[in-house]
Amino acid sequence: MTSLAAGADADLVILGAGCAGLSLAARLARSQHRLSVHIIEPRTEYEDDRSWCFWRPERHDLSDLVSHSWDGWRFSGATGPAVHHRVEGLRYQYVRGSDFYTRARERIDASSDITLHSGVHATGLVSLGEGPGAIVRVETDRGSIRARHVVDTRPRVMPARLYQSFAGVEIESEHRLPFDPAEVGLMDAMATDAGGMHFRYTLPLGRTRALVEWTRFSATPVPSGILSAELDAELARLGLASARVIRREGGVLPMGTPGDLPDAPAGVVVAGNSGGALRAASGYGFLRIQKWAQACAYRMQRGEPPVGHPSEPWLRRSMDRIFLQAVRADLERTPDYFLALARGVPPAGLVRFLSDAALLPDYARLIASLPTVPFLRQLAPTAVPPVRDLVRA
Ligand SMILES: Cc1cc2nc3c(=O)[nH]c(=O)nc-3n(C[C@H](O)[C@H](O)[C@H](O)COP(=O)(O)OP(=O)(O)OC[C@H]3O[C@@H](n4cnc5c(N)ncnc54)[C@H](O)[C@@H]3O)c2cc1C
Repeated sequence: MTSLAAGADADLVILGAGCAGLSLAARLARSQHRLSVHIIEPRTEYEDDRSWCFWRPERHDLSDLVSHSWDGWRFSGATGPAVHHRVEGLRYQYVRGSDFYTRARERIDASSDITLHSGVHATGLVSLGEGPGAIVRVETDRGSIRARHVVDTRPRVMPARLYQSFAGVEIESEHRLPFDPAEVGLMDAMATDAGGMHFRYTLPLGRTRALVEWTRFSATPVPSGILSAELDAELARLGLASARVIRREGGVLPMGTPGDLPDAPAGVVVAGNSGGALRAASGYGFLRIQKWAQACAYRMQRGEPPVGHPSEPWLRRSMDRIFLQAVRADLERTPDYFLALARGVPPAGLVRFLSDAALLPDYARLIASLPTVPFLRQLAPTAVPPVRDLVRA
């Protein structure tokens, strides 16, 4: 651990070296414009604690981090036929957390201007002034540091319309697994019970290896012990109780934060999940974080202050809100809603919707696919959008 010199100055202090903090720092590490950056991170060791999936064409700027990809994905209910989707030219892609962390840290280590302080907790932020140009004192359990700018990616508890709670295991079996290796089970065996809606998410990583996750959508977060027990029961149902567990991942993702995010102190930008990176309707955040990191690094290279995540365009925000409220109001019917979307919206349109790229006809198909009455009930008046937001939608 590098100790922080009391009163040291930095152009930028990043709180948290997870997905968002590392993405920004790794981009700044490769920039010609030299900025002194300090990253504060409590972890001393990185584990393979998560994986990130997204839809992209085969080749893109992160292709070298993709360890697996599939050209098909599936939705299914407790009974009845599954709905199979694929989109010409698009693949569902998988980045291992360990690969992402290693590469980002290699880039950071190669830069003499960026220092990662592992094993350090940020404990407070004090703005030493007001408005643009305010210096911020970052307090940690190992001393304090004064920064021109702070990007804060620390996790925080946030109220949400709905919570996506999940527990998963990467397993290796001696026998061939009962999954089609060419297709992801995006939302399999969707059903409801007293605890809300649940489904299985399956990423086949080979004929004998897979990541299997048990997921719940519910009005309150589900404790990890309950989810793990349900995952074990699901593995047993699939005949996989004796499969070797290679690693575990899980978490609780807030879906749709009611109201605005709290204001940050002067000189501080909040980013990552805490700054609005998660897409309300899906819980996907990885590509949104990459896009933000690119934009933020670009600005800082030009000598401008860092930026947070862009606000959600009105149409997308409203669709997500209506959808989440309808789901929350009647969790029993949620599997029907998702199956209706899978059947009624062309796969390319549904992927565009989930990937923040929906076109007006995609929204029209989405609305036409869903039952009218429960969704109309959620149409409480919302503020009239500025025209520019409608255009961006
Ligand atoms: C298991 C899992 C799987 C996911 N899968 C996907 C997926 O497939 N696709 C997708 O698009 N999105 C996915 N997400 C959602 C989202 O992309 C991730 O949550 C992503 O890691 C968010 O990045 P972040 O930087 O906001 O948070 P994190 O990556 O959690 O980083 C926050 C960092 O802050 C640090 N920290 C905590 N306390 C302090 C402190 N006091 N001081 C300084 N630092 C502190 C933490 O140690 C951590 O390193 C997943 C989320 C989880 C949890």
